[in-house]
Parts: sequence; structure tokens; C-alpha cells
Amino acid sequence: MSRDARGRACRRCGDPILRGLSDDWCAAEVEVNPTPLNVFGEMLARIAHLGTYDLHREGDHLRLHSRDHWQIAGRPAGILVYCWRVDVLAEHRCGWVFPAAPSLLRSRTVSTGDLDGPPPF
Ligand SMILES: [Zn+2]
Repeated sequence: MSRDARGRACRRCGDPILRGLSDDWCAAEVEVNPTPLNVFGEMLARIAHLGTYDLHREGDHLRLHSRDHWQIAGRPAGILVYCWRVDVLAEHRCGWVFPAAPSLLRSRTVSTGDLDGPPPF
């Protein structure tokens, strides 16, 4: 299985989800809601005993990393801290919705080259 998180539909409810490995080492396969959480949303998810995950963009790849008390306290969900651009996502439970925040991920760069110049081949 690839380390990248990939979009798909939940087999039970049909809602869009992301599925991927939770960490680089000793990972578990997890399914998360694609909607970024705010601080209150992450608090509610943790009270409900759901895992929360940082979603990083690394080039064209999306990667999940599980959050512990250090990340939750140091980089609160939905708040930009020192250019740390990640979204915090909750583990998927069919029908559960948590308070959301706007995405902090940068959009993918399409092209930085000279589009008016000669082709590179
Ligand atoms: Zn579902």
C-alpha cells in the first residue's frame, strides 16, 4: 500500500473520505473525513475517541500523520502557526460531522515555467 492518502467513497454511507496510512512507521490504515476541523471540532472528535490526523501536501502527494497531545497543543486545528500549512482531519464515522475550518493547504502548483517560450523538447 502506498503512503499517500487517496480519495474514495465510504463503502457504508457513500460520503467522500480519504484513506491512507497514519504514519511513516508502525502505521495503521485509516479513513478520515476530508473536511478540515477547527479547534472545537478536534476537541469533539477526541472526546468521541476518534483519532485526528494532520494532512500534509508533499508535492503532488497527500500524507496523513496521527496527532498526539503535543501536536494538538502546539499546532491547534484550523490555525496557521509559523507557516505550518496542514489540515486537521477526523477519523471517519458515518453520519458524524464536526465544526469545520477553511483549508490551510496550499493549492498544487500547476506551472512555474515560461508559458510563452519554446517547448522544452
Ligand atoms: Zn461512512
